[in-house]
Amino acid sequence: MSERQPAAELIHHAYQPPAGFASPAVAVHKGSSIFFENVAALKRVRWADRDAYTYGLHGTPSTFALEARLATLEGAEHVLLAPSGLAALNLVNHSLLKSGDQLLIPDNVYGPSRNSARHELAAWGIAHAVYDPLDPADLAAKLTPATRLVWLEAPGSITLEFPDLLGLIAAVRAGAPQALVALDNTWGAGLAFDAFALGVDLTIHALTKYPSGGGDVLMGSVATRDRALFERLAATHGRSGLGVGGNDVELVLRGLASLPLRYAAQDAAARQVAAWAQQHPAVAQVLHPALPGSPGHVHWKQLCRAAAGLLTLRFQPGTPGARIEAAVDALRVFRLAWSWGGPVSLAVPYDLTHLRSVNRSEETVLRLAIGLEEPEVLIADLAQAFEGL
Ligand SMILES: *Cc1c(COP(=O)(O)O)cnc(C)c1O
Repeated sequence: MSERQPAAELIHHAYQPPAGFASPAVAVHKGSSIFFENVAALKRVRWADRDAYTYGLHGTPSTFALEARLATLEGAEHVLLAPSGLAALNLVNHSLLKSGDQLLIPDNVYGPSRNSARHELAAWGIAHAVYDPLDPADLAAKLTPATRLVWLEAPGSITLEFPDLLGLIAAVRAGAPQALVALDNTWGAGLAFDAFALGVDLTIHALTKYPSGGGDVLMGSVATRDRALFERLAATHGRSGLGVGGNDVELVLRGLASLPLRYAAQDAAARQVAAWAQQHPAVAQVLHPALPGSPGHVHWKQLCRAAAGLLTLRFQPGTPGARIEAAVDALRVFRLAWSWGGPVSLAVPYDLTHLRSVNRSEETVLRLAIGLEEPEVLIADLAQAFEGL
């Protein structure tokens, strides 16, 4: 993989401050109304072009600055912001699918994505099929002439299987040349691997996670290199009212400068916690793509230079779910909460019974999202909480 300097690129990103005020911080610009000099000027600009300011919903200097920085981070050309990662995901589906089309999602897809396929998309006449993320042949078998969009996620949510991305993309190109390939790249954050170099058409991110880094912002993004695809996405974006607030944009811009450092620290700490968990007698397996033996490890090793801060624990067969839940309640440093990427380490038990349809399982697993505390503190917390296991 090519050498990149994402921290320097993000910190020294082109920005023109007001004359005589050379501060590193990008100003917070807000506005719903944006004044025009005269009627001719008002008639000249079209919001869909996104090259001038028309109305706050369609861009401000702050949102354009964040979009440009996110494009740099991922090696994309065009970026759109949405009020959450889930909104970004739905923007892609709503822009690219119509009645009669088919959509493919991996079995370990971010859960709410599967729910929107089951509910809104199904109600609008858009069918979906679920494929085994570890089997490109299964994906190939589920493609039809109606397939218009295939989602990838690397690794998948909760169980963290790292798919053969190149194999999955090749299967789509061979079996459904009419389909677009979208990657939910929240875990990779533009740092772990180069999504566009692999050949995806677009990515989405929950900026809520690592880019914000504070556990205090909800935001999402969609990125692509393809101008025509961007125009389709931007048209639906502009008609959907997906605005983001200037103060939230400021928080994400501020977070981006420390993103590579935080990501590396959380990656290193997660591997330390994983190594400890691997030798704990109550733990049957640690799911973490950088560990040999974790599903898809070979693909992670082939494509990635980093591994984020997530790990999931499988317990010894027969461990009652209630025992695992009691251990979670005994945690003092880890907090029980959704999401990840902020300073506080989080733990959530997941009963897989209703979360998978291809690779069914009835076990309860524990997903850990490592924050910014010292790893020794986290390990001591897990050690005391796991005494009852
Ligand atoms: C959190 C998450 C999302 C959704 O992001 P929100 O901003 O919480 O809506 C989407 N995909 C993945 C993989 C996520 O982890």
